[in-house]
Formats: sequence, structure tokens, C-alpha cells
Amino acid sequence: MNPAVPRITAHTAASPWPVLQAPSSWRHVDFISDLHLQASEQVTFLAWQDYMQHTRADAVFILGDLFEVWVGDDVIDDEGVAVQPGQASSFEARCAQVLKAASHRLDIFFMHGNRDFLLGPAFAQTSGMTLLNDPTVLDFAGQRWLLSHGDALCLSDTDYLQFRTQVRSEQWQQEFLGKPLPERQSIARTLRTQSETRKRSGVTYADVDGAGSCDWLHTAQASTLIHGHTHRPADHELATGLRRIVLSDWDASATPPRTEVLRLSAGLANQSTGSTVQRMAATETA
Ligand code: MN
Repeated sequence: MNPAVPRITAHTAASPWPVLQAPSSWRHVDFISDLHLQASEQVTFLAWQDYMQHTRADAVFILGDLFEVWVGDDVIDDEGVAVQPGQASSFEARCAQVLKAASHRLDIFFMHGNRDFLLGPAFAQTSGMTLLNDPTVLDFAGQRWLLSHGDALCLSDTDYLQFRTQVRSEQWQQEFLGKPLPERQSIARTLRTQSETRKRSGVTYADVDGAGSCDWLHTAQASTLIHGHTHRPADHELATGLRRIVLSDWDASATPPRTEVLRLSAGLANQSTGSTVQRMAATETA
């Protein structure tokens, strides 16, 4: 049975990861990630706002790092209003309004990235988004698609994976979120400066592991992995019948501008298993 509304089933013995069953009415599903939205990058924000207002997709999946940084849902209050008017927090309030408005026309799903893993249920509710586990299996157009941010599959970066385990733990998050907001913002600025310094030093970042991806795909009984994080957009053939599709990051100020959307489209109703995968500029999605 294919329900009229998206339905997420928790993991079972047969499938260790949640499965999102797409309604049969969905024709187009969009994927974006790594927009790194921040108040100082207005051009990218406006391109994203325009995209959210006009895409004709039935659902938008945000696969992590929508925000450059997230220090807690209390940067806005329950009504989606900035708690510190005129401060950086009002930017998050504007983003919540864009999401909420779009959520009246389409379904929005959000998966955490390594920058915005602290985005919680309160902000998701204010914004009209459904939070997804990483990874989640999407059952759409007669196929199973495995969705992830991608950072958990960068297996060669053991230092990062250790850090990830720490900051994703309940205990670390409770401790961090218990600090006053200005202190959390200050910690985030320090981490960001460190990361910028590391980037400028020319260090090469780990890539998503091919064998690990195959393992995940076998476990999920899926043939295609879709992820972001690495900012290395490509289509990789992993093994017979298995592939890994990498999303692009966004920078609307770059030349040429990067505002790429990956769109899955279902085949005609009488071809239940057909589907197409397309990369398009955000302005082409309307
Ligand atoms: Mn990332």
C-alpha cells in the first residue's frame, strides 16, 4: 500500500535504518546540501530563498549543512522570532520563515550535517521540517535510495570520527546546550576560525569511502547512495549496479555560481520503476 502522506518506519530486524515511504503522488524529489547559510552570505541566502519559493518538487530533502553553524534552537523563540533582535540570530528566524512558507506547498526533510548537527526538534517544528536519521532509506519511484550527509563514511579520518562520536552523544550535547547562548556563539566562532586556518593550510580532506558505501548499500538493500559533505559533486560507479551520487555545495557569489539541485523524477504512472536523475541550477527547478 502506498499512503497519501510520507510515512517513516523505524528500523526493524530486516532494515537497521528508517525507511521513508514516498506517497505515490510524488513526481519530483529534490536534494540539496552544504549551503552553509550565514548572515554574511546574503547572495546565497537569496538564491536559496528563491529556490524554496519556486521549486515544483513535491519534496525537498536537505542532506545536512544547511547552516554554517548551529548553536541551539534557542537562537529563535517558538514563534520563529529572533531572541536577540538585530543580532545574528535574526538570520535564523528569516530562514525559519522561508522554510515554513515552503512547507505549506511541499514536504521538507532535514538530515544533520557536521555543522548543524545541533538543530533540534523545536526549530524543525517551527520551520515545518521533518528530521531524518542519518542514514535513511527513501523508497521512491520503485527504488530504494540511501540518503546520508556523508561525514560518517569518511572512514580514513579517524580523528574526526572520534570527535563526531563525542559531539553526537547525549551527554556532550546536554552539556553544550546548557551553556549560555553567548558562550556557545563564542565557542562556535573559535571553532570556525580554527577550521578556516586548517583549510588555508592546504590540508586535503578525507573522502567518502567506496567499500564503506558498498557495505551500507548492501545493508540498506539499495543501489544508489546520495550524499553531500565533501563538496566534490560527482557520480561514482562503485561496483556492478551500485553508485554514489555526490551533491554540490552552494556559493551563489562564486563564478560561475554554485546553486545545484539534484532532482529525482518518477517515470510515467504505467512505468512504476522508471526514474530519472538530473542535476539542475536552482533557477531551473520551478
Ligand atoms: Mn559537512
